[in-house]
Amino acid sequence: MRDSSVGLNALTQAELSAWVDQARVRTQWGRVPDYIPLLAQVDANVLAVKIETGVGQEWSAGEKSQRFALMSVIKPFVLLFLLEQSGAEEVFKHVGMEPSDQPFHSLTQLSSDRGHPRNPMINSGAIALAARLPGRDGFSRCERLRQWLNKLTNSHLVLDRRMLESVRSLSNESNRAIAKMLAQAGKLDRVEVALDTYNHVCCLSGTVEDLARLGSLLAQPGAISSSYPQRVVTRSHQRIVNALMLTCGLYEASGQFAVRIGLPIKSGVSGALLAIVPHQGAIACYSPAIDAMGNSVAGLFLLEKLANSLHLSVFG
Ligand code: GLN
Repeated sequence: MRDSSVGLNALTQAELSAWVDQARVRTQWGRVPDYIPLLAQVDANVLAVKIETGVGQEWSAGEKSQRFALMSVIKPFVLLFLLEQSGAEEVFKHVGMEPSDQPFHSLTQLSSDRGHPRNPMINSGAIALAARLPGRDGFSRCERLRQWLNKLTNSHLVLDRRMLESVRSLSNESNRAIAKMLAQAGKLDRVEVALDTYNHVCCLSGTVEDLARLGSLLAQPGAISSSYPQRVVTRSHQRIVNALMLTCGLYEASGQFAVRIGLPIKSGVSGALLAIVPHQGAIACYSPAIDAMGNSVAGLFLLEKLANSLHLSVFG
């Protein structure tokens, strides 16, 4: 039997609120990114968190109605969708499963790997997988993914068209160079469609509640939250996605946070952060001030507090 002083169930609302106040101070140590104009305009002091368990318990604090683009937090769900569609053998013909110690948009990494993306959590891997989503163009591919996720998790993701315009307003040369190298290596056919699909899925947006619901797809073994139980995702696919989040989800900082927190986590440059507590639930955070690697400063502080105080690490 589980010790009642450990695990998500032991969390009190008072503790969560106190840790959110402590975490909020940390926002001043991060910066909003400047390469996507709309992200550069957001209030860097915002902090929101939502925690859900598979048995209907939930906690939240901060500006929880704030909407944000998921950016790279969508990457684990692109992977999960393709695993469910075509199986692991097919998916891993196109992307690797090794961590990278290079930044998320590194061309050097892709080049040294001769055009085979290291893993699905960095841009090269996600662009290669975006190219394999079913559908005619970026919009229709993104729409299929959006509907699949909303239906399975009862969430309300929408495409943030203003954010998409903003992403498109400055040409992202590193992503373009990555897509061209992938095309040269035979990993994708149409550079423009692949990039456009990738940009669309990064602009799916929601609240921390939506993100926590997405997390429930990865938290409950072979199933999803009791609030929406009619379909399951394959257990081995959940395991794959969680393992890759743990080892690659925070880019160069993944190893450090596997030690400090010990949970599968994925970050996005918008300040979105999702942690999976296997067999227990999901923790979704949003706080837009990020560190040099692109991970939310206050979000990681809060996750570390939760993980250490409640003994959430998968390593005991
Ligand atoms: N769309 C963003 C980009 O490619 C996503 C990156 C991220 O969230 N780390 O730059």
